[in-house]
Amino acid sequence: MKSTDVLVIGAGPAGTIAASIIKQAGFNVIIVEKLKFPRFVIGESLLPRCMEALEDARFLDAVKAKNFQEKFGAKFVLDDQICDFNFTDQHTEGWKWTWQVPRAEFDMTLADECVRMGIEVNYEKEVVAIQINDDESSITTIRNVDGSEEQIKARYIVDGSGYGRVIPKLFNLEKPSSLPARQTLFTHFEDVNRATVAQEPNRITIYIYNQQTWIWVIPFSNGNTSVGFVGFPEFFASLEGTPEEKLTYLINSHPELNERFGNAKMQFEPREIHAWSVTTDKFYGDGFVLTGNVTEFLDPVFSSGVTLAAVSAQNAAKLVVKKLQGEAVNWQQEYMDVCMKGVEVFRTFVMAWYDGDLHNIFFSKNQNPAMREQICSVLAGYVWDESNPFVTNHQKQVKALAKFIRETQLENEIG
Ligand SMILES: Cc1cc2nc3c(=O)[nH]c(=O)nc-3n(C[C@H](O)[C@H](O)[C@H](O)COP(=O)(O)OP(=O)(O)OC[C@H]3O[C@@H](n4cnc5c(N)ncnc54)[C@H](O)[C@@H]3O)c2cc1C
Repeated sequence: MKSTDVLVIGAGPAGTIAASIIKQAGFNVIIVEKLKFPRFVIGESLLPRCMEALEDARFLDAVKAKNFQEKFGAKFVLDDQICDFNFTDQHTEGWKWTWQVPRAEFDMTLADECVRMGIEVNYEKEVVAIQINDDESSITTIRNVDGSEEQIKARYIVDGSGYGRVIPKLFNLEKPSSLPARQTLFTHFEDVNRATVAQEPNRITIYIYNQQTWIWVIPFSNGNTSVGFVGFPEFFASLEGTPEEKLTYLINSHPELNERFGNAKMQFEPREIHAWSVTTDKFYGDGFVLTGNVTEFLDPVFSSGVTLAAVSAQNAAKLVVKKLQGEAVNWQQEYMDVCMKGVEVFRTFVMAWYDGDLHNIFFSKNQNPAMREQICSVLAGYVWDESNPFVTNHQKQVKALAKFIRETQLENEIG
């Protein structure tokens, strides 16, 4: 039986970032990944805060060399109104830019870096069972594609299995999400009209289609652009035809998208994903820690997924190192409470997006410059910055600002 200090489940950003940081501290790491890479996964727009985690994991140079599309902010569009955030105008001192990435290539880059660092990355090996021993070490059973099985002994396990949710499923830690189930329909287009039609052709843009439905447009440096509609399942159920016919109908119904993508070739049959919001009872236990999407995934609207995955992996890895070095770790305070602080800020923003408060704030004519910078910091992923009132007091700040804007608008209309 193989033996290692740390077994990492999954070679997504959470798994590879954790693996790299633990390896750099001098411990042996094995990654087991169910699929063959490169593989498709959604989650293509990053936030500046995740650059710190990529830097800590020593991945930045390798990612830079791929020439992915740089991202300097985010643009929200409601009919003819535009709300434009530039990360240079944020309250927090930190990264002012990041990337828009086809994840197959991005994740492969991180995994290749792990191999280069001497980490054993095993593809097409699925974790199917885990037994934790009294001393917190574990025996993990792996199934190969030919059906054969093998076991790996580890001192600690980092679960970065994303939507696979390996440990929550095996150990009954699943918990329903507080957010209602939503759905998406998306593809990548060969964006042949980008240069001629779009005003800022390479910028990520979020279009509001109706109060509960929005669209992402994420251009890549390879000439393709990811386009997806997000809404309630009833919205998609009301459309007829194949996924391709549904997406074509939606694109044609939106003048700006129709002009850009109406005659563009889809790179693959549009895919649907349903009910992605999930969470877990506890992010740690004897001999293991959960990172990335396995902990909690909220909603794609503010592109928070990879950043929360990266930061949780960065934090988890440092605590695993501390533990392996024989120091005590208070997982609740040092890990789960920290993760939840950031998640709760994004939860408030996601809920305020769907209940319309953020639409009021984003498209208000009277913007308070300091508050705009504070909101921009949240959108850049700096959701642990205690000097930002939209972090420390997120719910009250968002509610109060939206109410103030609505009342001022009403007064102006009456006056
Ligand atoms: C519609 C939609 C749009 C999104 N858009 C964005 C966005 O624009 N920006 C953003 O930041 N995030 C976005 N996300 C979120 C993003 O997809 C995730 O947050 C991100 O991929 C999480 O990374 P991870 O490393 O935790 O997991 P993953 O990237 O899912 O990686 C987990 C890996 O574990 C492997 N695995 C699973 N089970 C097993 C097993 N049993 N054994 C071994 N390996 C296993 C999987 O094959 C996979 O490779 C979006 C999500 C959705 C649903």
